[in-house]
Amino acid sequence: MAGQCNGNAADHFKLPEIKFTKLFINGEFVDSISGKTFETIDPRNGEVVARIAAGDKEDVELAIKAAREAFDHGKWPRMSGFERGRIMIKFADLIDQNAEELAALDCMNGGKLFTFSKHGEIPEGANTLRYYAGAADKIHGETLKMSRALHGYTLREPIGVVGVIIPWNFPTTMFFLKVSPALAAGCTIIIKPAEQTPLSALYYAHLAKLAGIPDGVLNVITGFGHTAGAAISSHMDIDKVSFTGSTEVGRLVMQASASSNLKPVSLELGGKSPLLIFNDADVDTAVDLALFAIFFNKGEICVAGSRVFVQEGIYDEFVKKAAEKAKSWVVGDPFDPHVQQGPQVDKKQFEKILKYIEYGKSEGATLLTGGKPCGEKGYFIEPTIFTDVKEDMKIVQDEIFGPVMSLMKFKTVEEAIEKANNTRYGLAAGIVTKDLNLANTLSRSIRAGMIWINCYIAFDRDCPYGGYKMSGFGRDSGLQALEQYLQTKAVVTPLHNSPWL
Ligand code: ADP
Repeated sequence: MAGQCNGNAADHFKLPEIKFTKLFINGEFVDSISGKTFETIDPRNGEVVARIAAGDKEDVELAIKAAREAFDHGKWPRMSGFERGRIMIKFADLIDQNAEELAALDCMNGGKLFTFSKHGEIPEGANTLRYYAGAADKIHGETLKMSRALHGYTLREPIGVVGVIIPWNFPTTMFFLKVSPALAAGCTIIIKPAEQTPLSALYYAHLAKLAGIPDGVLNVITGFGHTAGAAISSHMDIDKVSFTGSTEVGRLVMQASASSNLKPVSLELGGKSPLLIFNDADVDTAVDLALFAIFFNKGEICVAGSRVFVQEGIYDEFVKKAAEKAKSWVVGDPFDPHVQQGPQVDKKQFEKILKYIEYGKSEGATLLTGGKPCGEKGYFIEPTIFTDVKEDMKIVQDEIFGPVMSLMKFKTVEEAIEKANNTRYGLAAGIVTKDLNLANTLSRSIRAGMIWINCYIAFDRDCPYGGYKMSGFGRDSGLQALEQYLQTKAVVTPLHNSPWL
């Protein structure tokens, strides 16, 4: 069996009580108007952990009213950037103080590794807030060099009420990648977490209020995509939508904008990212990197290095070592610190991945290792590697969003570039070589928004992140992300006292 499946080895971990299960509108936790709720489950065992308020159109309506009022008349957009920044830093400190509980929520809801969440994702969420808090008082326009006797300058103003729709794979990271720059800009927000992972978002709403973020500025609507999500993207009174999720739903969000108020949208969508490994690479290091690139977060990451291309000189050695290491990859309870891979987020995702593994086999690829579910209960899948893969196979063209690597061979640099670009996506790419000239040449030839040389999944909050091609447009992270929540107003006046006409 590929990977050791440790089942529920961490049963002794004391799960936190679920404190927040209702919608957060205008500073209060409230039931949905319909009174409907939905189950949120623990993917380690498929059991229900809580019932969560199912927000729908009429709840979105209330949240938009609150956010509109807070934007049009409230103090958040009008207070100094410095003051906004201070409140955001307080919010970040509260997150750090509650990191253990928040990490447990993301793990029991999303199957994420507890140690990674506690020491990585949760504190990084807080740091993202701090990064944009530091920018909040440095937002300013320019003085324009006008060609006539005119004085002109620009104002950088918050775009308004922002709708945010996020996926389940990084509930905390996604929340703060969008909410932090929007808050710094002075916007007000309605955010819909994914239906699979609503728990931490509601906790963040509670902490935002404790930190002093005024009522109506940050509203959380839990619920489904076709109801609450669609109500956000099609609403006439939302000024911008920031979306991360599948390419299919991204298209729907854009269509909803086009047929409503033409609100600008930013879309961070799917990927099928290539990792190119050249003959001069250290094979052991390259294998470790390749496994990390696809098995990290159980492959549920948009930038997953799901297409691995290895140059022919080291291909055989790479295949042998990759199989050995994948077999010793530890799959099991994500609360156990030795575990490297937890369960897939839910049954639907679990079944989708297994279906793709079947496609791989029936289309003639060789299953090098893995390929089966593991454990008695829950949604665990063995780390899986296919060889003898052809580029037109479904497993190479479609985003699987699971621990499934397609391993392929190439000869020349030209071939590597062509293969890397042979996808409708363009989110990320990795290059492993000691030859910097080669790495730089490739970086310019690959059509993707993020290139990692001798590393992978190396994110940083100062580094803009987003896609080329059907991986979307707009950038999260870095100061470029702040731009998405601002708009520019030009102000012009004659230089002399003489009347303009
Ligand atoms: P995934 O395939 O990763 O689950 P989705 O694109 O389906 O990603 O979901 C990402 C987010 O988009 C979730 O919050 C989901 O509820 C939301 N969503 C799904 N369908 C729609 C829709 N029609 N309109 C707006 N949001 C939606």
